Amino acid sequence: MRSGSDYLASLKDARRVFVDGEPVQDVAHHPAFAPIARTVAGLFDTAADPASGIARTDPGTGATVNRLFTAPRSREDLTAYREAATTWARETHGWVGRSPDHVGAFFAAFAAHPEAFGTYSSSAAGSAAGSAAGSASGSAAGEHDFAANVAAYQKRIVDEDLYLSYAIIPPQVSRATTAHAWDGDLVQVGVAEERADGIVVRGAQMLATGGAVADEIFVSCIKPLGPEDTDFALSFAVPVGAEGLKLYCRRPYAPAASSAYDYPLTTRFDETDALLVFDDVFIPWERLFVYRDVAGLRRQFFDTGAHVLGNWQAQNRFAVKLQFLAGLARKVAAVNGVDKFPGVVEKLGELASLASLVESGVLAAEYTAEPDEQGLWRPGARAVYGAMGLQSELYPRVLAILRDLVGGGVLQVPSSVADMTNPESRADIDRYVHSPNADAEQRVKLFKLAWDAVGSEFAGRHHQYELFYAGAPFVVKGYAFRNYGFDGPLADVDAFLAGYGLETTPA
Ligand SMILES: Cc1cc2nc3c(=O)[nH]c(=O)nc-3n(C[C@H](O)[C@H](O)[C@H](O)COP(=O)(O)OP(=O)(O)OC[C@H]3O[C@@H](n4cnc5c(N)ncnc54)[C@H](O)[C@@H]3O)c2cc1C
Repeated sequence: MRSGSDYLASLKDARRVFVDGEPVQDVAHHPAFAPIARTVAGLFDTAADPASGIARTDPGTGATVNRLFTAPRSREDLTAYREAATTWARETHGWVGRSPDHVGAFFAAFAAHPEAFGTYSSSAAGSAAGSAAGSASGSAAGEHDFAANVAAYQKRIVDEDLYLSYAIIPPQVSRATTAHAWDGDLVQVGVAEERADGIVVRGAQMLATGGAVADEIFVSCIKPLGPEDTDFALSFAVPVGAEGLKLYCRRPYAPAASSAYDYPLTTRFDETDALLVFDDVFIPWERLFVYRDVAGLRRQFFDTGAHVLGNWQAQNRFAVKLQFLAGLARKVAAVNGVDKFPGVVEKLGELASLASLVESGVLAAEYTAEPDEQGLWRPGARAVYGAMGLQSELYPRVLAILRDLVGGGVLQVPSSVADMTNPESRADIDRYVHSPNADAEQRVKLFKLAWDAVGSEFAGRHHQYELFYAGAPFVVKGYAFRNYGFDGPLADVDAFLAGYGLETTPA
């Protein structure tokens, strides 16, 4: 399996990542991206360590592979999958949303469901010569079997231990209409040209978290499209360094973070998020999975089980993060000497309940998992989407409790670690910023961590992330609505109503 240093070395390619008006030369050594790249490298090292339980033997090839890139095919597999995902999530304490297992889960499910992918007969007789982007493929025009493409690509993810990010949302131009109605051709990424050896895509897609430090990006569209949107009904995988692909990152937070002591989360886990711009990017046929097929996009995400498996991984990561926040809140309360006060116990109890709910949703999904018709063990959708449906209320509530408990302590801290090493300021900090159970260095460290969790720019981005990563809250509640299974509860109510009438005497 790939080591962390193999991964870091592979980042030096032709990728065009823009920050502050400049393309970044080498993401692995740039202050905005080096910290998260090192964190991802650490994940690869952990996976390669047999003691982590993340590696498994591929039954087909006998090779040692990352189980988080393979489909769970038994209950035991599913449990081992969750435990492996937990090991990775614990390494980042849940603060990295798009670790390589997220999109890895989607592809594992895609490959388990070849029937969800179509074919396409291409009649294009074009050639790569003189075209907008260079061709890497010699495949001829003709029949394209997207299930075979998915299978071959997923095998590459497993064999080469690839880290994929994804961008599956149209840019936020207007949500009143879909892309065909927007001003300008191909604002959302779409087909600019069909050629014998592939297609050329143009336009933008949001929002590739981790894209700047990924190997490749999966590009698709999960928002419903209409019949006039076929140009945009695509799925493909593209190397981050592909010619013509540009990543416009939001402001990275890591470079402004003065030290790990001051910003312990920002300095490790700032994944970055990027708008992708495809300036005529060539995609060979074998990298296409859905082509001009609006219904095919829905089949890909939902019929394959990819959405429920990927979001189970995400809820598991979220559960780990909530456990961390619960521990942080408890420690802050203890340092301030309020953890035995009844009002505080109540708040910590509420936080514990919220964290337990998500953890229970993850375990309930495993308990109610079943194999589908292709033998993929799918976590129970009712439990996965039930937990997800509450996330946009639950996370702000957790933050509110933590904010309540820290009070002004997160601001009664020195400006930076430099004040801790200046003898004059340090003497004052030692004297005035301490608690009975924590000296100044420990207390300041704890409250700076708390600020990075609730108040820093990194924390604000995380707040937004937890609300939106799986779709806007109304979309996620729609998943909960559709997957709850209202038939049983409705039948219960009908049976109850049928059990009495006008004539019934009150008991
Ligand atoms: C930090 C962060 C990281 C992300 N990472 C990724 C990633 O890695 N990959 C990826 O593909 N995407 C990612 N996303 C994008 C995410 O998937 C989208 O933000 C999400 O799907 C919501 O789409 P939107 O932002 O365009 O919001 P919109 O769809 O524009 O919705 C915004 C708000 O408008 C209102 N609204 C819009 N439409 C309707 C409607 N039909 N009915 C009622 N109200 C409506 C609602 O109030 C809604 O909350 C990320 C987002 C964030 C914030």
